[in-house]
Amino acid sequence: MRVAMIGSGYVGLVSGACFADFGHEVVCVDVNAQRIADLKKGIIPIYEPGLDRLVADNVAANRLSFTTDLNEAVPTAEAVFIAVGTPERRGDGHADLRYVQEAAREIARAMAGYTVVVNKSTVPVGTGDMVEGIIREARPEAEFSVVSNPEFLREGAAIEDFKRPDRVVVGANDERAKQVMAELYRPLSLNAAPVLFTDRRTAELTKYAANAFLATKITFINEIADLCEEVGADVQLVARGIGMDKRIGPKFLNAGPGYGGSCFPKDTKALMRSAQDYGVAMRIVESVVAVNDARKTAMARKVVKACGGSVQGKTIAVLGLTFKPNTDDMRDSPAISIIGALQRAGARIRAFDPVGMEQAKKELTDVAYATDAYDCAHGADALVLITEWDAFRALDLARLKQRMAAPVVVDLRNVYRAEEMARHGFDYVRVGGRPHL
Ligand code: NAD
Repeated sequence: MRVAMIGSGYVGLVSGACFADFGHEVVCVDVNAQRIADLKKGIIPIYEPGLDRLVADNVAANRLSFTTDLNEAVPTAEAVFIAVGTPERRGDGHADLRYVQEAAREIARAMAGYTVVVNKSTVPVGTGDMVEGIIREARPEAEFSVVSNPEFLREGAAIEDFKRPDRVVVGANDERAKQVMAELYRPLSLNAAPVLFTDRRTAELTKYAANAFLATKITFINEIADLCEEVGADVQLVARGIGMDKRIGPKFLNAGPGYGGSCFPKDTKALMRSAQDYGVAMRIVESVVAVNDARKTAMARKVVKACGGSVQGKTIAVLGLTFKPNTDDMRDSPAISIIGALQRAGARIRAFDPVGMEQAKKELTDVAYATDAYDCAHGADALVLITEWDAFRALDLARLKQRMAAPVVVDLRNVYRAEEMARHGFDYVRVGGRPHL
């Protein structure tokens, strides 16, 4: 099948490359001319494991190409995906749909013949109706359907998630569109991935419900972690103890600095705003948003406390800046708020991240960047682990301690073993740990 992918970011580029790998003919479009020029030269604009190879292979096989011109992609496509950003709208927490609207207008101008317009971006309920309205108004005679097909991939494991998803959700209101979507995803059913067909509004809401539920799970265990610290319990064991229950499941129960990233913060807020618009109380989601926001400053306070009550004039080494490992994505990373709060408290920050430092430089000010974890620790009064990159898991603890001015480690991801840290003479603080560990 012929596919046009409008928006070649984390979702569009991965989805486009994976569809091409399934054998479809895909053209990825983006308004960012630099991004398209880079892609044409084989330069991948984002960090996603395996993506460079997947793109190169499919470009070589003539199944994947890139353009800034929608007219080179849309008229011949049977399915046109909208995979543009839907960031938080400034001021009110709603999803900002301007890129989706613009894409819809451009698609309307370019499409020819029966076209399925597929919304892959995360969008509030009713956006499919809006896209349909925009296209219908511009092209009253056109033959088309608008489908919702929210994406559930995780950055850092995006290709595997796309190719072997837990499920694909397709919200289609008519049979013809449903058939096109079934054909498009047929290679996935060979991977035994279930495709759940729903109506369009249900699909749109499913994405928000999924993200809000996962954000709730994280926030729940974070609050349990706080209680663990007070009562002398160990959150990692509590998480294991509850996670073994199949009704709960072990995933998303790692206590930490609070969720961040390009999806959970904006999606929880957008869901909350939608519910408010419809007069529906969503107190759980509202609490999750508030509790998670407060957690970032609480983590900075934790560091200050570990430093004896003040970080004024002290050097704090920060390991890990991206919102999670294996991505260069800094959007709404907890590191941004934590570092900001520490700087306001008078700390100097030295940071290292294996992949994210270029993106971090756009978000952070007055940060000195190190060449590796040991360089980062040099002369530091405390070291804070914010993102659990594999490279930080097996550090030479003796070497690390030797570099530091004071042996204080605040582990916001619970990757180290308390006994081992104590053996090496560290003053070690983690999340949700018993005080004596
Ligand atoms: P992104 O910012 O990485 O990419 C969006 C791309 O769209 C950019 O390259 C931008 O230049 C381009 N664009 C904007 N308007 C355009 C237009 N009119 N024509 C062509 N290109 C245009 O965003 P992303 O992270 O890929 O997210 C896209 C959507 O997918 C969002 O709604 C997001 O919530 C959702 N989503 C993201 C993830 C994730 O992990 N990043 C996972 C699931 C769902």
